[in-house]
Amino acid sequence: MTAPEIRQQFLDFFTSKGHHIVPSAPIVVKNDPTLLFTNAGMNQFKDYFLGNRAPAWKRVADTQKCLRVSGKHNDLEEVGIDTYHHTMFEMLGNWSFGDYFKEEAIAWSWELLTEIYKIPKDRLYVTVFEGDAKEGLPKDEEAYNFWKQHIAEDRILLGNKKDNFWEMGDTGPCGPCSEIHVDCRPDTERALSDGGKLVNADDPQVIEIWNNVFMQFNRLKDGSLEPLPAQHVDTGMGFERLVRVMQGKSSNYDTDVFMGTIHSTEQLTGHTYGRTDSKQDVAFRVIADHIRAICFTIADGQLPANTGAGYVIRRILRRAVRYYFSFLEQKKPLLHELVPVLAQQFANVFPELLQQVDFVKKVVFEEESSFLRTLDSGIRRIEDFMGNAKQKSIDGRAAFELNDTYGFPIDLTELIASENGFTVDKEGFNAALKEQKDRSRAATELDTDDWTVLDETPATKFIGYELFGTETHVTKYRKI
Ligand code: ATP
Ligand code: MG
Ligand code: MG
Ligand code: MG
Repeated sequence: MTAPEIRQQFLDFFTSKGHHIVPSAPIVVKNDPTLLFTNAGMNQFKDYFLGNRAPAWKRVADTQKCLRVSGKHNDLEEVGIDTYHHTMFEMLGNWSFGDYFKEEAIAWSWELLTEIYKIPKDRLYVTVFEGDAKEGLPKDEEAYNFWKQHIAEDRILLGNKKDNFWEMGDTGPCGPCSEIHVDCRPDTERALSDGGKLVNADDPQVIEIWNNVFMQFNRLKDGSLEPLPAQHVDTGMGFERLVRVMQGKSSNYDTDVFMGTIHSTEQLTGHTYGRTDSKQDVAFRVIADHIRAICFTIADGQLPANTGAGYVIRRILRRAVRYYFSFLEQKKPLLHELVPVLAQQFANVFPELLQQVDFVKKVVFEEESSFLRTLDSGIRRIEDFMGNAKQKSIDGRAAFELNDTYGFPIDLTELIASENGFTVDKEGFNAALKEQKDRSRAATELDTDDWTVLDETPATKFIGYELFGTETHVTKYRKI
């Protein structure tokens, strides 16, 4: 089954259970000070949970573009190294706003996975919240008992607050959750060990695919929990992980979600994915992952910039550039060539990219060209620092110089350092950065050797760059 068919089956299934299908909210969050980017399907429904607004439908389902690169949920370090955490991913979800609760949510997730998707039952494990004495939260007996109606008890595992009590951020709606994990190991390996022991243990072949959250509380600023006015269901299933399970692959990148981008990268660089060089493979995966995050975030209204959400995107882009530069011997801009590939692939589900494809391509091209102008000298500089260091540490001033002169975000310096067994003196870096800011407070945001956005956060809702005409890029950007 192809990825688009798998996505459609999810939506069709929940339509058949009385759900209204809604579009994905933009990845970029402009009106919530607690969040830079959408990190879960529920974000756009936060006000329904809190009782601030009444929903038009009590049951909805969708696929939501999510980004987990900052704040409470940050997976950036995992991406490309493992095969199932992405920066940007699709979260399939179904919701009940004060309507059905645990019984139906559990029964339907089981029905969809085992009867529609036909995932063998003996490959599935579920987890239930074990309770937390400190917070005064009981074990989720209800969920446990509903699961017992579907699955053998030795496949129901208890989980702690970290894995089985879901929170959007430091504040906001939250509640106990029940997760579903798939043991994708080959039968011979499965026969040798208990898959339940590998749940939530970061085993690359025993992965969490779906989280059913039972929204019951609101976490307040002082850390306390207050009950919500009503009880809700909020679920999230990792689409790329589901596709990998359905297509019998051992990595999300081997599915048709990513192979188009990977093939194009092979053609553009002359290297082949999946040979022997693991560093090259990581580079292929990082590029295939990062370009999605970059494209969809720009298409949703966030340009790369030197501060805030825009800097997050610039950092991801520079990370990808460094991977192709260092490991795929690619010295010319590459990422922009992948934009049309993704725009075509997602034309039916997220048409906003195809609608703005030329613009997004241009922004990506400018960004990578700009970084490529300093990257080579920056790499030589960091090699000098490491070559001359007395200990395996890059000092704060050096990290600052790499940032200030060569445009190396601190996490890129840390990445290169760690590849070489070095650490970075981050405190020293922050101190040097603060000194610079103090010196030129007024000019801070513009004081760069780079492209910067002049009118970063429009007060009005973002409705597309094309509104500014074909000259958008020229009028919105200025070279300092
Ligand atoms: P994990 O433990 O694997 O990091 P999670 O518990 O942080 O996942 P949830 O917040 O429960 O994830 O999100 C719901 C679902 O979204 C997960 O069950 C998973 O399938 C998917 N998911 C979460 N993070 C990512 C990611 N970075 N990339 C791809 N899919 C993800
Ligand atoms: Mg996680
Ligand atoms: Mg988890
Ligand atoms: Mg989870």
